[in-house]
Amino acid sequence: MKAMILIAKNQPLILQDIPIPIPKEDELLIEIEACGVCRTDLHILEGDLPLHKKPLILGHQIVGKIQQLGGKVQDWKVGDRVGIPWLACTCNECCYCLKKKENLCDKALFTGYHTQGGYAEYTTCNAKYALALPNFTSAVALAPLLCAGLIGFRAYLATKGAQTIGFYGFGSSAHILLQIAKEQNKRIFVFTRKGDLEGKALAKKLGAVWVGDSDEIPPEPLEAVIVFAPAGELMVQALQVLQKGGICISAGIHMTDIPSFPYKDLFFEKVLTTVSHLTRQNGKDFFAYIKDHPVETITHTYPLELANEALQDLKEGKKKGSLVLKIK
Ligand SMILES: [Zn+2]
Ligand SMILES: [Zn+2]
Repeated sequence: MKAMILIAKNQPLILQDIPIPIPKEDELLIEIEACGVCRTDLHILEGDLPLHKKPLILGHQIVGKIQQLGGKVQDWKVGDRVGIPWLACTCNECCYCLKKKENLCDKALFTGYHTQGGYAEYTTCNAKYALALPNFTSAVALAPLLCAGLIGFRAYLATKGAQTIGFYGFGSSAHILLQIAKEQNKRIFVFTRKGDLEGKALAKKLGAVWVGDSDEIPPEPLEAVIVFAPAGELMVQALQVLQKGGICISAGIHMTDIPSFPYKDLFFEKVLTTVSHLTRQNGKDFFAYIKDHPVETITHTYPLELANEALQDLKEGKKKGSLVLKIK
């Protein structure tokens, strides 16, 4: 099979022909249709996150069809369409797993990081961590939901019913979440980089009530803010736009350092927090919701061989919406 392989950090992925993996007894073999390109892939490639496995196949927003079942797999059948998200496996016995917080599992493995991911024609996954996907749309349109949608949704739930929510950064995750929030009559305020006219125009088009630069103060204080951009200074900036008791949530796995700031900016019970990974239940809940409330992902597709170009375009913020490798 063809796969784009990460040999060493900060080097372009290399196209190689390698054997199709053989599923273990608790695994599925998946023929990949599409795989979304996520900022986390860039963080792994560029060494912001430590590299645990080499050579590595990136990619954790995988949509594909089951080709083969491991000997002990019962819940799936060949031909089913499944999604493989970031959470690849948990220990099921640590204190976090036992508290239904498997996203915090001490021994969690992640797809396209500890296990081989979706920048390839085939992959394997633990059957218990695959997600059933709706059939209402294409594999390309579904792929960004596996991380951008899912982690965005987890961040959205962390706003705990806030009616006014700010988004810092307007990429793959934010453009999906804006549609969900708008349908729930939330008022969304979008902050983007200065000069990002295209991002601002898209946010307006999708229903943001206000758009501005990331250093601007919106016309009213907000109940919650989600920071999608991996820039620590935005966590501090967000405190300036929050109401008393407001919450600021980072949705990213990596961020530059958060600068120091005066205590008075955090006082009045403001909260700075993060969402970390996902649970299987988050995945089930999210796709159950999406089935009844479809969203339209704006996608830009690349063939597998152009994964490096896709990563570069993501880094430069060239394309608005979600970047997806269309593999089959
Ligand atoms: Zn655990
Ligand atoms: Zn991701």
